[in-house]
Amino acid sequence: MSSLQFLGAAETVTGSRYLVETDRDRILVDCGLFQGYKLLRDRNRLPFPVPADSIDAVLLTHAHLDHSGYLPALVRDGFTGPIYASSGTAELCALLLPDSGHLLEEEADFSKKHGSSRHQNPRPVYTEADATASLASFRVKGFDETLDLGEKFHARFVPAGHILGASQVVLDADGASVHFTGDLGRADDPLMRAPRALGAVDVLVTESTYGNRTHPGVDPAAELGAVIRRVAGRGGVIVIPAFAVGRTESILLHISRLGVSGAIPDVPVFLNSPMAVDASEIYQRHQDEHRISADEFTEMYKLATLVRTVDDSKALNLRGGPMIIISASGMLSGGRVLHHVAAYGSDPRNAIVLSGYQAGGTRGASLLAGVKTLRIYGRDIPINAEVVQIESLSAHADSNDILDWLRAAPRPPQMTYITHGELDASDALRVRIKHELGWSARVPEHLESIDLNDPR
Ligand SMILES: [Zn+2]
Repeated sequence: MSSLQFLGAAETVTGSRYLVETDRDRILVDCGLFQGYKLLRDRNRLPFPVPADSIDAVLLTHAHLDHSGYLPALVRDGFTGPIYASSGTAELCALLLPDSGHLLEEEADFSKKHGSSRHQNPRPVYTEADATASLASFRVKGFDETLDLGEKFHARFVPAGHILGASQVVLDADGASVHFTGDLGRADDPLMRAPRALGAVDVLVTESTYGNRTHPGVDPAAELGAVIRRVAGRGGVIVIPAFAVGRTESILLHISRLGVSGAIPDVPVFLNSPMAVDASEIYQRHQDEHRISADEFTEMYKLATLVRTVDDSKALNLRGGPMIIISASGMLSGGRVLHHVAAYGSDPRNAIVLSGYQAGGTRGASLLAGVKTLRIYGRDIPINAEVVQIESLSAHADSNDILDWLRAAPRPPQMTYITHGELDASDALRVRIKHELGWSARVPEHLESIDLNDPR
C-alpha cells in the first residue's frame, strides 16, 4: 500500500510539496514556498498539513524557492530527517535559503513599520538563522545513485535540465513506481543539457508551467539583441529582472555572444546580484551539467561589472543610460531590482525586460498585463518604460516539449497527474495528453490524496 498526497503546486505554479507514504514511511518530494497571490502566500503561514517530525526524509528536485523555500520552516518545526539533493542543488540552496530568510525578515519588518499587516507584530515565515540551521540536514546524492528510504521504498535522481542540479525523482514505493518531473528543462536549451527521458512507470507527476503555450520559434539571442539595439540607440537603460540562479547565466551568455558577433553596440553591463555572482561560481564548478565551456564562462563574466555593495547599487540609479542592469528577483517580488525599476521605470526611453515565468499576483505579472503604475516600497511608481517579455529565454519545457518528452516513453503510465501550472495551463496540457497520446491524465486538487496502487 502506498499513497500520494498533493500538498502544493496543485492548480497553481508554486508551493511544490508531494507526500508519498507507505505503511511504514513518509517521504516528502519538494518543500516549496507558495508565491504570488496573497491568498497563496498565506498558506506559508498555515501549520504544515502533517506534523514535521512525522516525515522521514525530503527529496529535493531543485533549488528554486517554490520547491525548496519552506525547508527552513520544516526543520525549525521539528523535521529531523535527511534532505536529499544533488550536489548542485545543495550548493545553490546554501545561497538561496539564507537569502530567502533574510528577505522574509525584511518583509516582516517593513509591514511592522508601515502597519500593512493585520498582526501587531508580524513574524517572518522563517528567519535567516532558521535557514542557515536547515542546511545541516542536506545530504548530497549523485544522479542515478539508489537511495534506500525504507525497506520497500527506493528512489533516485535523474537530470531534469532546468537549472544546475535540477533533478527528476523516480521512486518505488512498495511496488508502485512514480516519476516526478520536477521542473523540466528544454531539449535544446543553450545553457543546460536535455532532461533524461521518461522510463516505464505506473504514475507520472508532470509540471505544466507552460502547458498552454509554445515558446515562439524565434532565437532568444536575436530577440534580446533587437531590444538592446533599440533601447541603447535612444540612450535608455535596460533593466532585466532575472532569477539569480539560471536566468542570469543564460542572459549573460546571450549578451556576450551578441557582443562578440558585433550584433549589439558596446553597452556597459552591470550584474547587480551578489547571489548571482556566487551562483555563477557554482555553475563553473559543475561543468558536466551544462553546455558552456570554461573559456566562454570566463568571457561572460568579464563582460559584466559585478556590483556587490549597497552603495554601488544605489550609484547605478544615478548613472543613466545607455546601460544594461541585470538584477534579482525575476518576478520583481523583492530584491535590488525594485530600486532600479523605481529609478528608471518612469522614463519612456528605458525598458524592462522580463525573462522568465511571471506567477500571477507578482509585480512581473502586473507589468505584463500592462499596468501603468507599480507599488514599490509603499510608493506608486509610474511605468512609462517599454515592457518586453522574452519568453524564448524560458528554462521550462513548453507544451510541445512536454508532449515530445512524453511520447518517447516506452509505455504510458497508468495515470498522469498534471501539477505546477495555473489551472488553464494544466488543463490545456491534460487535454493534449488525452487527445494526442490517448493517456489517462488529470489535474489533482490541492490536498487531494490518491492510492498509488490504484491511481485514478
Ligand atoms: Zn524551477
